[in-house]
Order: sequence, then structure tokens, then C-alpha cells
Amino acid sequence: MKIIRISSMFIPAVAALLVLNYAHLARLHAAPPPEAAPAFAMVIHGGAGNYDRMPSEQVELRRASMTKAIEAGYNILKRGGTSLDAVEAAIRVMEDSGLFDSGRGAYYTKDGVPEMDAAIMDGKTLSAGSVASVQHIASPIHLARLVMEKTPHVLLVGEGAEEFAKSQGIELVSPYYFYNEREWERFKKAQEAAKKTSSLRRDEEHGTVGAVALDQAGNLAAGTSTGGTVMKMPGRVGDSPIIGAGTYANNESCAVSATGTGEYFMRNIVAADICERVRYLHVSLDQAADDVVMKELVAQHGDGGVIALDPKGNSTTPFNTPGMMTATLRADGTITLKGWTKTAQPVTVSATK
Ligand code: ASP
Repeated sequence: MKIIRISSMFIPAVAALLVLNYAHLARLHAAPPPEAAPAFAMVIHGGAGNYDRMPSEQVELRRASMTKAIEAGYNILKRGGTSLDAVEAAIRVMEDSGLFDSGRGAYYTKDGVPEMDAAIMDGKTLSAGSVASVQHIASPIHLARLVMEKTPHVLLVGEGAEEFAKSQGIELVSPYYFYNEREWERFKKAQEAAKKTSSLRRDEEHGTVGAVALDQAGNLAAGTSTGGTVMKMPGRVGDSPIIGAGTYANNESCAVSATGTGEYFMRNIVAADICERVRYLHVSLDQAADDVVMKELVAQHGDGGVIALDPKGNSTTPFNTPGMMTATLRADGTITLKGWTKTAQPVTVSATK
């Protein structure tokens, strides 16, 4: 009988091989490491001001419209769509609702007709488009997007902007498109009040709309759309369509949309100032926005607020007015609505998928 002699080294060598093999197999069969949820985020606003005198049903309607607006953004972002598309889609919902100082619900000038401004900006390329003093455009934010994408310019105003709209197949709407009884009554009251004061400071609710978004590719975008301030002079343009004042986006710092008395936001280049503080001073977004809105603007009696978002998905919504309606979306579909008054409890809902 042949005796197989096993060297004393054989057993430890086999054991080591088995252990190595097992480790290899375990690596092959183990569940893949959980992938981090794709990060995206969005914040929208429905205007800064005083909502105390706004009937609760109207606050409710605005909240519902903002929920619908941010859901439109969510459905784009969760499928990997761009922040620009999300911003435009959300703003269009609010423009079309007739509930805000924007699009269909735009406030009137002293002459009793709406004149609207809007801007959109791409944080990746710094491309931007805006329109000002348009009177027959149902969706100024859409026209601003076309200015950005189809012209070599940034800002088109008045008739030139409307001629361009026609060239892009956009139908001009009649002034009656913007008529609603609530706004007309409010306009008449404002007309009476304006006889007593020429102050720019507003003590009513406002309804400029804006959005900032971060998409899964890490790109920021911002947009704002407004009918401007109550009883503004015909031809007056506010901060919303001025890149750097009421609207700004840069992937290296942040995206901002502002609301408030635009003259202060223009003089202080508010949106760009917040982003440049983040970029050059390396302060947090929260601190930068707070310093500008709650210190610099307050010192000048500049009323309003901003929504701001950075490339990490951090967001902030400071305002120095009694209220500013906002909705914030997280990648898990949670939407938090707040700000119609400083003390109102936030309402959290889940986005309809
Ligand atoms: N900022 C806008 C403007 O001055 C108005 C507003 O946000 O209420 O045109």
C-alpha cells in the first residue's frame, strides 16, 4: 500500500487557499454597496410681503398651486431632467394659475395694464435670458428661456421681445387674458391709496414667483417671473429680469431668486452678492443670504426675501417682510411649505409621483 506522506506545510497552505477563495467568492456574491440616492433639490417662492390680510382660502389656493408647481419640478428632476427644465416648469404652473403676481395674475401698472418681467439662468454655462415690460405674453419665463437659447442676447424688452415671441410661434394674448375681478378691485384700492403716498415700500401681500433647482448632474438653475410692484409706473422694470439683482445661478456658488421691492435688490445686486460671498468669502449659503437680506437690506429698509440653493443641496429662505411663501423639495419627494407668516407652522406633504 502506498502511503501518501503529507508534508507538514500542506495543511496550512490548503487552509490559506480556502480562506482566500472564500473571500473572493464572498466579494463576488455580496450585494453591491448601496448606491447613494441621486441628489437633487428645489425651492420655489410665491412672493414676499404681508399675508395677514389675505383670506385664508386664497392662502390655501396659493399653497396648492405651489405644491403642483414643485411637483412639476420634481417629476423632471427625479427622472434625471435638467434644473433649467424644472425651474421653467414650476414657474409656468404658477404663472398660469392666475393666483400670483406673475403671468395670468400679474399686477397692473398705474395705467391698469400688466407689464411683466422674467429671467432664467443656467448655473453651468452662465447663460441667461430675460424679458421686461412685456404685455401680451402668457408665460414670460418661457420667453426668457427662448431669449437665452435662441438669441445672442440676454435681455429683450417691450415690443422687441413680443416681436421675437411671434417669430418663435408664441401667440400674443389680449389684455383680457390677465383680467380678474380680485386683481381689478385691488388695483382700484391701490389707486386710491397711491393718491396719499408715493412711497415704494409695500405693506400688502405679493406674489412674484421664483424657483431654484439642483439636478442630478449637479447643475444649478434659477428663474423669476413677476408683474412687478403694485402701481408701478409704466415702463418701470424691477430686479427680477436683471441678472445678478433678482435672479442668478452659478455652479461654483449658488442659485438665487429674489422677491421684494426691486429697486433695493438692484442697488444691492442682491442675488449675485449672495453667491459671490459664498464663492470668495467661503461663508455658508445660510450666512451669506442672511447677511444680505437681514442686515444690508434691512439697514436700507429694503423689504423682501430670497430663496437660495447651493451645489450640495443646502438651501435657505430668509425674508425681512412679515411673510414669504416658499416650498422646498428634497430628493425623497418631501415638500415643505412655509412662510405665509413668520409663526405659521410648516406643512409637509409628499410629492405625487
Ligand atoms: N421684485 C419684484 C419687482 O420689484 C416685485 C416682488 O417681488 O414683489 O418687480
